[in-house]
Amino acid sequence: MVKAVAKGVRAYGTVSTGVVKEAVRRHKLSPLAAAALGRTMTGALLLAQTLKNKEAVTLKIAGDGPLGKITADATPEGAVRGFVENPSLDLPLNSVGKLDVGRGVGKGFLFLTRFTGLKEPVTGSAELVTGEIAEDITNYLYVSEQTPSSVGLGVLMDKNGDCRAAGGFFLQTLPDIDEDTLSIIEENIKNLPAVSTLIDEGADGEAMLKLLLKGVDDFELLTKTNVAFRCQCKKERIEEVLISTGEKELKSLIAEGHAEVVCHFCGEKYEFNKEDLEMLLRVAVKANEIKKARST
Ligand SMILES: [Zn+2]
Repeated sequence: MVKAVAKGVRAYGTVSTGVVKEAVRRHKLSPLAAAALGRTMTGALLLAQTLKNKEAVTLKIAGDGPLGKITADATPEGAVRGFVENPSLDLPLNSVGKLDVGRGVGKGFLFLTRFTGLKEPVTGSAELVTGEIAEDITNYLYVSEQTPSSVGLGVLMDKNGDCRAAGGFFLQTLPDIDEDTLSIIEENIKNLPAVSTLIDEGADGEAMLKLLLKGVDDFELLTKTNVAFRCQCKKERIEEVLISTGEKELKSLIAEGHAEVVCHFCGEKYEFNKEDLEMLLRVAVKANEIKKARST
């Protein structure tokens, strides 16, 4: 992930091939689901770049199409995780021979939530325009946040169903941008090859931004950050959830002799055998005793 500025514009560009590969591996994604989730995760990573450290965003694409809802969480430090409701969906290619993400997503809304840590999270929303994700994010930023911007996202899948190239860019114009600069950038965007093609040919975030801001004064590279698929789930946290389900539920799991909890976000499986569950039951019983003692 590369961050840059130039006269009248802020720019972000990233390669996310590794992120999408990891999502394909963890969620066993079909090529269509990989394109949809890959674009959403890349979009979330780009949007998170406008936040301060320790903040986070959740980007949710809630369409009525057969893919179901798509959710991605990202941080400015470059961590992202995400999932799609129907990871194995396959549809015929669209009229231009591409994976039909728009049809998979359908009609609905985009929700963007910012977690700032200090205040309550803030969620904005906008209607989906095409379901192709990049246009939907651009439209959201304009309609809901009055920010003119340009977002490009691309995921290229190979014949074996693995991700060959993925990435994206996000340009935000500043209020003081002049007409000449704006038309240079618009021309650059128009002439830019597909993002996934650029990355497949070896371009990185920096090369992409240099093409997009070619001819714009005061171009300056700011930071480079690594991006990766990373989930915050931990066995301890899952144990807390199991304890909170209560004694009755734990007893029925013990009777089954085994429990398996899968994290939605990363597909990680957490196994609990009978002994583990009995230990959790003892903790739950103890916690209830303490609660009762306190209330009397
Ligand atoms: Zn997880």
